[in-house]
Amino acid sequence: MKTTAIILAAGQGRRMGSDVAKQFLLLSGRPVLYYTLKNFEESIVDEIILVTGEGQEEYCQKEIVDAYGFSKVKKIVPGGKERYHSVAKGLDAIDDDIRDTDMESKESTGENQNPSSCRYVLIHDGARPFAAPEMIKRGILAVQKYDACVVGMPVKDTIKISDEEGFAADTPKRSLVWQIQTPQVFECSLIKKAYKELLLREEELLGKGIAITDDAMVVELLLGKRVKLVEGSYHNIKLTTPEDLKIAEALLDT
Ligand code: C5P
Repeated sequence: MKTTAIILAAGQGRRMGSDVAKQFLLLSGRPVLYYTLKNFEESIVDEIILVTGEGQEEYCQKEIVDAYGFSKVKKIVPGGKERYHSVAKGLDAIDDDIRDTDMESKESTGENQNPSSCRYVLIHDGARPFAAPEMIKRGILAVQKYDACVVGMPVKDTIKISDEEGFAADTPKRSLVWQIQTPQVFECSLIKKAYKELLLREEELLGKGIAITDDAMVVELLLGKRVKLVEGSYHNIKLTTPEDLKIAEALLDT
């Protein structure tokens, strides 16, 4: 059975302050997305679905996928308004539908395991070009045990929770605080179910002021599922603001 990576590259990157979306900015002469896709191409994932901005599909196909010969990229689909809309579009593009109960029971007895159906999904920010193949493998090994896991690293700084007026309201125990990265890795039917539920309850959640900023929170919040934290890397930065590009250039040289 297959492991599919969904690479998200449909954001506009407003915080970068550039006309070009951050996933297409150049690092040592190549687009950021090139480095991201290369890591997945060289990893143990079987296929890649690239989610990009509406109208950018042809550019990605010609200038990135064909130009660099990324053979694992099977589909390029347009994303949506928020990150979670883009994830939902990527999940929709996975060929096999949620397996029905009959199929699942056959699978649990080892029967009828269709090699072309999707077993695990990795969701990854296109703006994280330093997710090394070894880290991707750690996520895939962990999901086989826990069904849901995300990579991240313990924070180095003390973290404060602020109140609405900008005063420190709480200081969580630092040894338990992690900064969460991607890839976030899930059993396929589990993440599809969580996102289906999210889209059904989107208005209610927005009405409560809940911002959906990663995939783990979707399965935690909507399915009550525990998500295992797996060691990522301090190199696995997300390019967000202009100074991140300088850090990325330095990381490329290491
Ligand atoms: O905005 P943020 O930094 O959280 O974006 C993380 C990743 O999600 C980026 O790679 C970005 O291109 C992607 N994204 C997307 N669709 C959106 C918003 C963000 O694919 N609507």
